[in-house]
Amino acid sequence: MGITPSPSTDLDAVVVGAGFSGLYMLKQLTDQGFSVRVFEAGDGVGGAWHWNRYPGARTDSDSMIYAFSEWFDPDLIGQWRWRERYSTQAEIEHYFNWVTEKLDLRQHIDFNTRLASAVFDESGGRWVLTTESGTTTTARFFIPAVGALSEPNIPSLDGLDEFTGMWCHSARFPREGIDFNGKRVVVVGNGATGVQIVPEVARRAASVTHLIRSPYHIVPGRNHVLTNTDIDGGKRDIVDILRYARETFGSFPYDFKGTALETDPETRQAVLEKAWARGGFGFLFVFADVLASTDANETVMQFLREKIKSLVKDPETAATVTPTDPWLTKRPPLDHGYYASLNRENVSVINIKDHPIDRITETSIHLDGGQEIEVDVIVFATGFESYTGALNAIDIRGRDGVALRERWRDRPRNYLGLMSARFPNMFTLYCGAYNPAPFTNGPSLIEQQAEWIRKWIVFLSAEGYETIEPSEAAEEEFFSTHAAIANSTLIPRTASWWTRDTPGHRGESRLVMSWTGGFPAYRRLCDESTPEVNGTSLLQLCR
Ligand code: NAP
Repeated sequence: MGITPSPSTDLDAVVVGAGFSGLYMLKQLTDQGFSVRVFEAGDGVGGAWHWNRYPGARTDSDSMIYAFSEWFDPDLIGQWRWRERYSTQAEIEHYFNWVTEKLDLRQHIDFNTRLASAVFDESGGRWVLTTESGTTTTARFFIPAVGALSEPNIPSLDGLDEFTGMWCHSARFPREGIDFNGKRVVVVGNGATGVQIVPEVARRAASVTHLIRSPYHIVPGRNHVLTNTDIDGGKRDIVDILRYARETFGSFPYDFKGTALETDPETRQAVLEKAWARGGFGFLFVFADVLASTDANETVMQFLREKIKSLVKDPETAATVTPTDPWLTKRPPLDHGYYASLNRENVSVINIKDHPIDRITETSIHLDGGQEIEVDVIVFATGFESYTGALNAIDIRGRDGVALRERWRDRPRNYLGLMSARFPNMFTLYCGAYNPAPFTNGPSLIEQQAEWIRKWIVFLSAEGYETIEPSEAAEEEFFSTHAAIANSTLIPRTASWWTRDTPGHRGESRLVMSWTGGFPAYRRLCDESTPEVNGTSLLQLCR
């Protein structure tokens, strides 16, 4: 347990969250001599990997790159031995604890500490941070590192209170687990989470009914235990792999192989087959034009439809799980036995789009239209209040008492996804809208953003500046750049956690909440506004 700061503590920085982003920021700032505390609502490190304990939880990036890089600590990299191509929740939580112990970071973290409010005090140029237990801390810099996907979306359903079985949201799965043996289980949602849960639970439950609305595009994971050769090669090459990955569209060690429309059908099929056989996110980055052109997109959709038909034996079930949204307009889950599980006697899938859950009774789920499903356990894999949920859960107030919730009521406003006008010295690390998170390897983006923040904090402190914030004009310019790119893709056509129906942005012109121009283009924008380039003219600095 960390040391609880006294009520009068004044710090250089408070970071909220002890996942990848919080720990990276903590280490970089303490290494530079800043006083920092991390407030973490949970009782352990890991962020998403602390909370998401559902059966089957594992990474979708290859484990070797889903870790801190040489930027974080050149001595640590390569010391950890990953067991599998995609690490399980338990393994990655173990890794987080290992890193925290090795670098003695725990002393800086207050666990079981949920931030209730963050108010900027203009007279003192300090953030006043009050936890739910009433402890107050002041800090020059306030760094929410709360994740874009951390506030669970739990559908509000009539009768859920009366349900006598067990229910939970996947991100609040009980630590002691759930005994699924012989139970009738309903899993709601078929994003990456639901698709991981179903095959695991199907092995034990009497029955699993999967309730879905819009089928996801699911790509084979092809997980395997890493051999000594994999591990030795990975350790030897990891810095080169990461350097290469930072230059690719998704910061993964895969890059486009041309465009679908300029590739002849035979070669295209061969390229897709090869990527399919390798498994993993390489399949996402095969052709560069699939989000720009419906014809290009359709080539991959055709391929997927054929694959589903070959994997799911019952034609009706295959049709139910065949996506209709354009390929890659949602973040594809990796398949670790999902399609195969649909061939089991004890698994069924129902599309509830036209017949949503009407109400829950003591023992069953009623769908609109009359169907009743008897159930013992309900798992809601229904995703998150993306981007704004965790930030809005904190009462954040900037200059003149303006509330972030209010300022962002119609849509989030920020610069590079990192800073907001009227919220000086607040850096939204990896949790700000319009960052490229869905298309990137999480740790790569986190480290790039945290380096940008670190540079600014060092600069401001060395040069005697009190505050930094973007102008509203800078925010609008960034948003226009983002929106122009996003709206030139097929992404606004699909409702997902990275789009939003807002007034003025509905249906085919949904607001896109994530940067879609690729990691290198995003990084270039950030690099153009560092202190050493022309950041001092792009951002507003006050002494
Ligand atoms: P998600 O992709 O947002 O999926 C939520 C699912 O719940 C969707 O199928 C959605 O249907 C459904 N849903 C939401 N509200 C519903 C309601 N009221 N009634 C019925 N269905 C409802 O969430 P997620 O699966 O947790 O994944 C989110 C992201 O987390 C992923 O894209 C990924 O970035 C990350 N993640 C990664 C991994 C990994 O492999 N490392 C694992 C899990 C999550 P609609 O689509 O129709 O709205």
